Amino acid sequence: MKRVLSGIQPSGKLTLGNYLGALKHFVTMQDEFESYFMIVDLHAITTPQDPAALREQIESVATLFVAAGLNPEKSSIFLQSHVSAHAELGWLMTTMSYMGELERMTQFKDKSAGKESIPTGLFVYPTLMAADILLYNADFVPVGDDQKQHLELTRDLAERFNHRYGQTFHTPEPLIQKFGARIMSLDDASTKMSKSNPNEGSYVAMLDEPGKIRKKIKRATTDSEMRVHYDKTNKPEISNLMSIYAHCAGLTLEQIEQEFEGKGYGDFKKALAERVVEVLEPIQQRYEKLRASGDIYDILKLGAQRAEETAQQKLQEAKEKMGFLLPR
Ligand code: ATP
Ligand code: MG
Repeated sequence: MKRVLSGIQPSGKLTLGNYLGALKHFVTMQDEFESYFMIVDLHAITTPQDPAALREQIESVATLFVAAGLNPEKSSIFLQSHVSAHAELGWLMTTMSYMGELERMTQFKDKSAGKESIPTGLFVYPTLMAADILLYNADFVPVGDDQKQHLELTRDLAERFNHRYGQTFHTPEPLIQKFGARIMSLDDASTKMSKSNPNEGSYVAMLDEPGKIRKKIKRATTDSEMRVHYDKTNKPEISNLMSIYAHCAGLTLEQIEQEFEGKGYGDFKKALAERVVEVLEPIQQRYEKLRASGDIYDILKLGAQRAEETAQQKLQEAKEKMGFLLPR
């Protein structure tokens, strides 16, 4: 059976972008593939986190995975930090990488822009991500469009390792959803929606209550033409909102244009907010129940046990190939 693996950082509150670009696809894929979905907490600390807030976010993201439809019987759901092979292979992969290729990563450029002191973790982030994927011989990695470059690097590192030490790692295929793979910010359609954006109005969080969702969408930036028409170049803001609508309602852009012909942005935004609420409200209800039950700890324990088995085997194989003496 083909294997799928992906992760989300507990670096803030999960957004609608995380749901539409990643989590939603995890849920459909778990029926078809052997699935590993993790909360990549080691990645979250590449930018400073408050310990209490981090703990809360980790539990919240894990609970949201299940509330959104991941089934612990079908998928291994686990915390990256519970499987120590990630950090260890991450180091080995760092030694396989070059400064130049890491410097070219746009996520690094974006996240380090304007910072006086740039955390080293931010720089080597992609080598840890490569380890995450390669430990499991993943065939497919469903990610948003923003992670494509990191996946290409993962393939390069795997090929470099295989070339130097002999066939060890399987090179994964990126699975980037063609349409709506990048949801943009509500206040600025030139930047992607991100949970670590300090401006709360830039994203809809998956756990935002309906009133808040309506307010945020009402305030979303639009142009002054007042015509619901998809044109990514000239009307990036409304085009982004339309793609959110399309995803949430399961409609095509043409159908949306028809539905709102002759209507203004006010009507469109009201309808959009309802579509988003329809998608998120049932998830929020399941979230509340699961969070109160405390069951997530058992789910994570089971997930880590399953992941550990696969990951350790691959780590030992890589270490042996590199010339480490394995314990006897
Ligand atoms: P951060 O700002 O901390 O980087 P993030 O919102 O970018 O947070 P990640 O944890 O980095 O979230 O990414 C988790 C998954 O969500 C990845 O597969 C990523 O490609 C996807 N993703 C993130 N933002 C978007 C977006 N705006 N549209 C579509 N997919 C997204
Ligand atoms: Mg990100």
